[in-house]
Amino acid sequence: MRRICFFLILLMMIGSTSDIVYGYRLEDDYIDVRIGIKNIDEEIVLSSSRGFCFYDKEDMDEMEDIDEDKIFIQGNRDGSIDVLDEDRDKILTLKKNDSIIIGSKDRESIVQVDKSRYRDYIYFLVKDTKIYIINHIYMERYLYGVVPREIPASAPMEALKAQAVVARSYAYSSLNNHKSEGYHLCNTTHCQVYGGVDGEKPSTNQAVDSTYGDYVSYNGKVISTPYHSNSGGYTEDSDKVWGGSSPYLVGVKDIYSTNSPNSTWTTSITSGELRNKFLQSGMDMGEILDIEIVEKTDSNRVKDIRIIGSKKEQTISGDKFRSILGTTYLKSTLFDIEKSGSSSSTKIVYAIDGYSNVPKKIDLGNIYTLDFKGNQTVSRGSVRRIKGNNESTDIEGTFINKDKAFILEGKGYGHGVGMSQYGAMEMAKQGFDYKDIIKHYYTGVEIINK
Ligand SMILES: [Zn+2]
Repeated sequence: MRRICFFLILLMMIGSTSDIVYGYRLEDDYIDVRIGIKNIDEEIVLSSSRGFCFYDKEDMDEMEDIDEDKIFIQGNRDGSIDVLDEDRDKILTLKKNDSIIIGSKDRESIVQVDKSRYRDYIYFLVKDTKIYIINHIYMERYLYGVVPREIPASAPMEALKAQAVVARSYAYSSLNNHKSEGYHLCNTTHCQVYGGVDGEKPSTNQAVDSTYGDYVSYNGKVISTPYHSNSGGYTEDSDKVWGGSSPYLVGVKDIYSTNSPNSTWTTSITSGELRNKFLQSGMDMGEILDIEIVEKTDSNRVKDIRIIGSKKEQTISGDKFRSILGTTYLKSTLFDIEKSGSSSSTKIVYAIDGYSNVPKKIDLGNIYTLDFKGNQTVSRGSVRRIKGNNESTDIEGTFINKDKAFILEGKGYGHGVGMSQYGAMEMAKQGFDYKDIIKHYYTGVEIINK
């Protein structure tokens, strides 16, 4: 027997506001993770072999049993949500801001959302023409779905345990990431990759269980613990990558990351491809004539890089350069530039002055415009027109070689801050435990159990 009337009257009485408490909260272990966004006119299918129950998100009281294996969710433009049975007959409507979550009848089992399976509870937020699908889940069970998506499940157990503790700390310290959107975390690399039950592996679940409640602490507080694939031999200070220094996120020498996948790599990109990448990022540099590393950090990563285009020159951070090229294409900012391509590094023209008719050979690569004090005011990338007394020659296009390739030789994969995952695996192989691994990568921290 359904209790719809009771349910609706109760909702009217409580005024239906959902109060999510933000900030990290080690006592209150349920978090809200966005697992999907759909258009409001797309249907969402929920399946559960145990039937469904609707619960009040605030006190977890049982609100409504639904004896169906499958229900359909349909968002409405007023923010409400219709719940339909398999014949598409409406079972009930959840009003906007109702703090109702949907789980299986026995609470602990799994709910399938379209084709993916999740533990604990599901709810929905309608915003304009979109419907957000949220997984309301116990922190430790969320970590079951994160650890195997962030590190190979075949890694040594102590490395898996280090990853579990680091992912737990990162999650607790990131609970404000999506505050304005009404949930805590998303399921992408923006927060941490989370794949629900489908990604779970026995080894990574074991790593989560055996470190239950362990988190990384500095001065008694949980800290944000960024991590990356491979440091290339030296981790990076956080302020060099994101600004804002942290005493526990300082670069350390990392001998454990020098003999593993992506510890060294080479990639190449042509001048034409570079131009397109910059255009896609809203920077019209013209043809890319040259790229030059301006400054490196202590860990030898590119801090600033100068892009010399036929339309303009601009210095950008190494991190921005990496994001423009694509973070999987340019694996890290720990790289050097080699140049290749025919007649690319020398741009020879011949000029005849007014006193003789013997042509002089001039390398445009060495031409600069000087002011009256002799200071360079424009570098060669901006030289586009040579002007004499009576005529001028536009040289743009005469020496640009679009097939000119820049060879980038680098080390490591990722931003380089915090734990190197391949380094963690190597440390585990050498007999270090998960606490040793974490203390190597985060300076001055402790591992505390809540
Ligand atoms: Zn996010």
